[in-house]
Amino acid sequence: MRILLVEDDPMIGEAIKVALKDAAYAVDWVKNGTSANQVLESGEYQAVLLDLGLPKRDGLEVLRLLRQRRSHIPVIIITARDGVENRIKGLDTGADDYLAKPFDINELLARLRAVIRRQGGNASPILSNGLISLNPATREAQCSEGAHLLSAREFSLLYALLLRPGVILTRTELEEHIYGWNEEVESNAVDFLIHSIRKKLGMNSIKNIRGAGWMVTKP
Ligand code: CA
Repeated sequence: MRILLVEDDPMIGEAIKVALKDAAYAVDWVKNGTSANQVLESGEYQAVLLDLGLPKRDGLEVLRLLRQRRSHIPVIIITARDGVENRIKGLDTGADDYLAKPFDINELLARLRAVIRRQGGNASPILSNGLISLNPATREAQCSEGAHLLSAREFSLLYALLLRPGVILTRTELEEHIYGWNEEVESNAVDFLIHSIRKKLGMNSIKNIRGAGWMVTKP
């Protein structure tokens, strides 16, 4: 899952980035409103964490432009602008959630899981296609043979597939879910991860569609 972090404070940004990576997200980080706007015009993200007080362009303006383009990406505002009026303004401009600084990083991660699963049309916290189920809070995958803890990247890859059962994802699409901008993509990473997931969850857990990519079956 790829997240865009928009935050100009280097210390807060670094702390959030580290926490997101530990939680198995691929993170792209921009530090001003203009870059955020540019990146959001082209990039594909599962969610955006958006500070409001930003150089060059205010976060609310970035959000307004994003919604004007009819983008449905979930946005969580993370800001020092507290108070009911600011919250209302943020949510009415198109944010899905609003978290005032300072916040507990675990609360941010829980809210992030919530907006991402709602975006995928899942009210339930567990993703499932009938054969495999996956708990994003614990990174535990369940199949008929039992439960297995997945590594951060195994989790990212399987999560991407389970968000859209029946849809084929290409190697590049899967890599985009696993790696952020500054991370070097290892050439066989996708094959390696699929091999290790199949070892845990069975050969049929992920289907290879020759020359196209991989998918999990529809329920
Ligand atoms: Ca700021």
